[in-house]
Order: sequence, then C-alpha cells, then structure tokens
Amino acid sequence: MVTKTPKKKKVLKQGMLSNVMHQFDNAANIVGLNPNIRKILEVTNNELVVHFPVRMDNGEVEVFTGYRVQHNNSLGPYKGGLRYHPTVDIDAARALAMWMTWKTSLAGLPYGGAKGGIQLDPAQYSNPELERITRRFTYALGDNIGPELDIPAPDVNTNAQTMAWILDTYMSTKPPAERSMNMHVVTGKPIGAGGSEGRDRATGYGVFLTIKFWAESKQVDLKDKKFIVQGFGNVGYWAAYFLEREGAVLTGVQDAYGSIANEHGISVEKLSEHSQANKGSILGFGDAQSIDNTDFFGLDCDIIIPAALGNQITAENAKRIRAYLIAEGANGPTDVGAEEILLKKGVNIIPDILCNSGGVIGSYFEWLQNRNGEIWQLEEVMQKLEKKLRESFTKVSETAKDRKVDMRTAAFIIAIERLEETYLQRGIFP
Ligand code: NAD
Repeated sequence: MVTKTPKKKKVLKQGMLSNVMHQFDNAANIVGLNPNIRKILEVTNNELVVHFPVRMDNGEVEVFTGYRVQHNNSLGPYKGGLRYHPTVDIDAARALAMWMTWKTSLAGLPYGGAKGGIQLDPAQYSNPELERITRRFTYALGDNIGPELDIPAPDVNTNAQTMAWILDTYMSTKPPAERSMNMHVVTGKPIGAGGSEGRDRATGYGVFLTIKFWAESKQVDLKDKKFIVQGFGNVGYWAAYFLEREGAVLTGVQDAYGSIANEHGISVEKLSEHSQANKGSILGFGDAQSIDNTDFFGLDCDIIIPAALGNQITAENAKRIRAYLIAEGANGPTDVGAEEILLKKGVNIIPDILCNSGGVIGSYFEWLQNRNGEIWQLEEVMQKLEKKLRESFTKVSETAKDRKVDMRTAAFIIAIERLEETYLQRGIFP
C-alpha cells in the first residue's frame, strides 16, 4: 500500500530577528552595557551564503541556498545547529545565531554562537538526495566550519544521520593523518560515528529538568498536571517522555500537519510509534480527537511546551492561553507582544536560552569526549547535564529575584555580563 505524504500546515514568515534584538536591548539597558561592547554584540561577525548544485534522482540538477551565520566567538568556537526548512533565510539564521551566543554564555560553556541551514522542505526529497545535498553543502562551507572554529549540530529536520554525513564529508577532505582529529567538527552524531550517549535526549531532558526545577521552586507537584506539546520531533518527544515518567499527562500535541487532543491523556510512546509509521505525522492517531490548529494553545492545561518553530505564541493566541507555565523547548517561540500579555497575566516563562540549553550542554560533552579520546557512560552524561542545568537555573532564578525581572531578562543579563567581562579584560585588537 502506498501511504500519502500528509499535507503540512502553513507557516507564517517569521520576524525572529526583531524579537531577539528586543530581548537583548531590554537586558543591555538594565545592566547599562558598555556602549562599545554593545555595538559589537548587536551585529554578527560573519555571514556566509552559499549556492550549490546537486544532482537529483531524476538526473536534473537543482541549485540550493545554504546559510551559516557566526554571531560571536569571544568565549570560544562558534556553536549552533543546522536547520533544513523553507523558512531558513539570512534573518532567521542571524536571530538563531544570536540566541546561541546568549545560550552558550548563560550555560558557562567555552563557545560562541552560530546557526545555519538550507532553505528547503526535506519532505520533498529522497534520502539519497538529502545525503547528496548535505554533503555538497558541507563541501561548500569548506573550512568556514571546523572542530575549533565552528561546530554545527542538529536542529529542525536534521538529525544524527545528517551529522554523520557532514562528519564523513569534512573528514574526507582532510589529509589521512588529520582525519580522526576532526571528529568534533559536528556534535549530535550517531554513537557509532563518534556521538555521545545521551545527546539524543539531552535537549528534551533539559526541558523536563527546568520544568522540574521550576516546580520544586514553586512547590508544585507535577503528578497529574496536564501538558501540551507543539512539535513532536526530537525535543518535543523527549520532553514529553520524561514528563510522562514524572506522572504528568500529555493532553494535546501539534505538529507540522495538524493538532490532536485528549483530556484523559495521550500515550507518548504510542503516539511516537504512530508518527514514525506515518511519515512523521501525528494525524490519524486513534486515541485522540483532531482539533483545529487555532484552538491548540487555548487548550485547558497547566504547562505548554512549544518545541517547533519561532514566533508560534503571538499576541493573538496568547490571550487564549490558560496554562500557567510555558517551557520554551523551541528557539524564539514566544514573540515580544505575546510575552507582554503573558507576563501581565502572571504566566511563567522558562526562556529558550535556559530551557533548551541541555542540547548544547550535551553537545559540549560530546565535543570534549572526542577531543580527549574518552567515552562516557549514559548515567555519567545525564548526571553532569543535571548538575550544569541546575546551576544555570539557580543563577537565573536568583538574578530574577535580585533584579526584580522576569526569567528571560535575568537569563539575558547573566549572558551579557559574562560577555562584557570578557571584552573588558581582553580589550579590542589592535
Ligand atoms: P525536529 O525536526 O526533530 O522536530 C520538529 C517538530 O516540529 C516536528 O514534529 C514537526 O512536525 C514540528 N513542526 C514543524 N513545523 C511546525 C509548525 N509550523 N507547527 C507545529 N509544528 C511544527 O526538530 P527539533 O530538533 O525537535 O527542534 C525543535 C525546536 O527545538 C527548534 O526550535 C530548535 O531550534 C529547538 N532546539 C533543538 C535542539 C536539538 O538538540 N535538536 C536544541 C535546542 C533547541
């Protein structure tokens, strides 16, 4: 039987750059950021746009556009994901690269921020085509990425397999004696290709942990709490998996194809099996009703986890939100207008640069293992991740309390002050 590829819902053009700039300006004003350092952080260091040809299965050649934006590397090599999506453009890459700089700084990692990707809808291409597209993109990026320069990782519609193709292509262009010393050019690799135990779940586990820390701080018991997830990919699935294990109940899910709900609970594992057998779509799942996409964020629940794209929670749908906690698994899911409304309503927001930072922390562990020729066990990785995230969460909570600001502003303040200190100590060349 031939299964039809499910039809995707429309995505509005995103304006993430203005959101990230607003968030930065707000925190920079509060800390009175040195004006010269502000000028540096307001712009990206390097922006690479590549057009590259790839032969399709039918023998025709298609030309693709790929991006890599390197925002800042004052704390260490550029770090950030590669996204394959029709909305990828230079502004999206700039915004996401900036968020990476704040995220790595907040997490206390020796990294800067970068982001990139290819403007395409992967559902339109075969696996061999995606492999050739990825390899040719890697070749086009050339030495603009590197294990001590700029280290990509998975993001929307890219995964461990994508990273393995990048690694193999990058290594193959090096002299034989140098190949294995380049293993850490990408993170999020499959275990057999130099990946780390636990990296697959690191982001979702981190989202869960920040919710758990938040619940502890507010004396909220997560058992029987209702949560809904937008995006049932790597981040959404793992966050739901760990929350369900804690006793919380998944009552609604939205992905690129539509939305489903069941107030009595949706089994995370059963939905994952269904989605895998249905070309990545949740639609048609037997134990839930299909609902209108516009009703999704207004569902009756305690916690919302946006884990798809940017600008999904807007001034329009924020008014209908009934949850008291939003845990931002995605990057930039809440726009500035929505945030204003939500904070006024007393909704707590665990900001993306804290909430989903488990991913880049997991990547850092993979990079360290590759660099040092070590292999850590799953338990060790998860413990180290929890320790680091708890430190970040505590710092953000304390800063929010001391400065009387929301958690996002607090997270940005910590990130910006660390960067400011670096510039002040090192000075500006020449
Ligand atoms: P993924 O490709 O594994 O999953 C994306 C999910 O979002 C899919 O279920 C897809 O159907 C859904 N989706 C796509 N467009 C949608 C739309 N318009 N409406 C509703 N759902 C839609 O991607 P991922 O790696 O899970 O990344 C999700 C988000 O988390 C992104 O914002 C990404 O930047 C962020 N993030 C990912 C990582 C990571 O380690 N993968 C780390 C930090 C942050």
